[in-house]
Amino acid sequence: MKTIGMIGGMSWESTVTYYRIINETIKRELGGFHSAKILLYSVDFDEIEKYQSSGEWDKSADLLSDAAERLEKAGADFIIICTNTMHKVAPQMSKHISIPIIHIAEATAEKLKERGITTVGLLGTKYTMTQDFYKTKLTDSGIKVVIPNDEDIETVNAVIYNELCLGNIREESKEKYLAIIKKLADSGAQGVILGCTEIGLLIRQEDLDLPVFDTTLIHAEKAALSAI
Ligand code: GLU
Repeated sequence: MKTIGMIGGMSWESTVTYYRIINETIKRELGGFHSAKILLYSVDFDEIEKYQSSGEWDKSADLLSDAAERLEKAGADFIIICTNTMHKVAPQMSKHISIPIIHIAEATAEKLKERGITTVGLLGTKYTMTQDFYKTKLTDSGIKVVIPNDEDIETVNAVIYNELCLGNIREESKEKYLAIIKKLADSGAQGVILGCTEIGLLIRQEDLDLPVFDTTLIHAEKAALSAI
């Protein structure tokens, strides 16, 4: 079995989910006492969030590149960055290591294609929804991406940073998200990407008729299946 190098802590609330899903997938596939071989480098999210807010992406690229190098030296066979947003600096990180990074948006694009989705709604941080680093991975696969309007982008983003990343799961915010997803569906989205690794703590497939693509689940499963 290969060793998975996880860069987590962004936030740790979702890293917990990654750890569980990876091990559940290995158990499902291999049975018995099998569990995943994992090296986890968990960052202090306070530093990352400050670099995001100040636009100092190069500093976060250095920090995460250092984490990736350490994981490679420790014996990881490949890396997963346990957040959508910080894939913004994945290209810089790749230059520091010789092992692959399994990209969360590429894994998600594969799932969308399997399901025949050609237009998808995207929820995530304001960086993920409005910048190109993430959406191009989908559009390059021929998938059209629909994002919320400006006011809804602010709402989705605020819930992520002020609630979900702090472990605060509120029914009221769930209702807001469901209303925003409905608007995306009305604009033609055939499915919705939970493009922030904490959104799965708030919204699940059971809450919606629309197909839900939870990036934490997709990414963690892909990592586990790549390890065996
Ligand atoms: N975990 C979130 C994501 O998937 C947001 C936290 C972060 O900014 O990294 O984008």
